Amino acid sequence: MTERLFYTDSYLTAFEATVVEIADAGLRVYLDRTAFYPSSGGQPNDLGTLNGTKVLDVVDEEERIAHVLEKPLPAGAVSGCVDWTRRFDHMQQHSGQHLLSAVFEALYGMKTVSFHLGAESSTIDLETASLLPAQVHAVEERAFQLVLECKPLAVAFEDASAAAGLRKASEREGTLRVVSIEAVDRSACGGTHVRSTGEIGPIQIRKLEKIRGNVRVEFLCGHRATRRARADFEALNSAAKLFSAPLDEVPELVKALQEQAKESDKARRKLAVELALRRGAEQLAASVEDPSGLRRHVEHVNAGGLGDEVRALAQGFTSAGRGVFVAACGDPPSVMLATSIESGVHAGDRLKELLAAHGGRGGGSAQMAQASLPSVDALNALLAAL
Ligand SMILES: [Zn+2]
Repeated sequence: MTERLFYTDSYLTAFEATVVEIADAGLRVYLDRTAFYPSSGGQPNDLGTLNGTKVLDVVDEEERIAHVLEKPLPAGAVSGCVDWTRRFDHMQQHSGQHLLSAVFEALYGMKTVSFHLGAESSTIDLETASLLPAQVHAVEERAFQLVLECKPLAVAFEDASAAAGLRKASEREGTLRVVSIEAVDRSACGGTHVRSTGEIGPIQIRKLEKIRGNVRVEFLCGHRATRRARADFEALNSAAKLFSAPLDEVPELVKALQEQAKESDKARRKLAVELALRRGAEQLAASVEDPSGLRRHVEHVNAGGLGDEVRALAQGFTSAGRGVFVAACGDPPSVMLATSIESGVHAGDRLKELLAAHGGRGGGSAQMAQASLPSVDALNALLAAL
């Protein structure tokens, strides 16, 4: 059985121990005692070195803790060194979670059903259907107040049958490790914690997400919170610079810009249609009459179908004289036939006849008809016939 030094001292980073068993050709070692925390209870494992060899993973095997190493290590005495930056970050997030969970429960009766400490951010799942922005704000304020009050955190080992007042009842029997925040919280937990709520530092609640009837709350504590706030500031500040405006005005300015873009787009479409109408009339004027007196134009559109602009082009071309206008698009396969009244060609009837022979669906009026074809081959055959 491995003695868990982190149970009684989460600030211990250098320790002496003996390798009592080796597995996997020396890549997996077991010690008589260790300060390395294994992944468990939502908290990730520690990293560091054993006799200078990198520890890649720390695995909880119930009785024992396995250290997975980068290079094999022989049996004997070892000096262990835990990566303190990583450990302290985990302590800040985990103690911050206990504090937040206690405050959510105290203020709104919302119970924490699970906790995950991630590489970037951490989450707690709250047993509630909804969480209002005002509630988030109140919890954040209250939690930070408790940080400022530097409430002591303590670890005690109590008999499960006698342990009372736990935030969440434990199913374990025998000895329980109870982590308490003075006058705020008592939780059965095996994790590593700071000594005082003051060491948690700033607490920032971020994204809320509804998951399986609960609300998942993302949060950051300590260095993570200040680093994130700095990154948020830089992102917002670069947007503010583009507007030459104060940070707080950015959301309103973005909204105004979006509306402006929508208006501009509407105006652009209107102008494009007007331009197409004129282009169609110009093409008609520039076209040459065939022996039967008809003026023809075939417009090939690459992709995107036959929209308002093509329709305007057709209307321009058939606005006077004996114009017959055909537009075709291969993606999706579609065709448009427009005719002037003077042409004597009934667009709808003519297209219907061709569709009967080549497949496809569509129709229209005497002067404007449109259809979609099942394939590019069918489209080409129809165009040849037309
Ligand atoms: Zn815990």
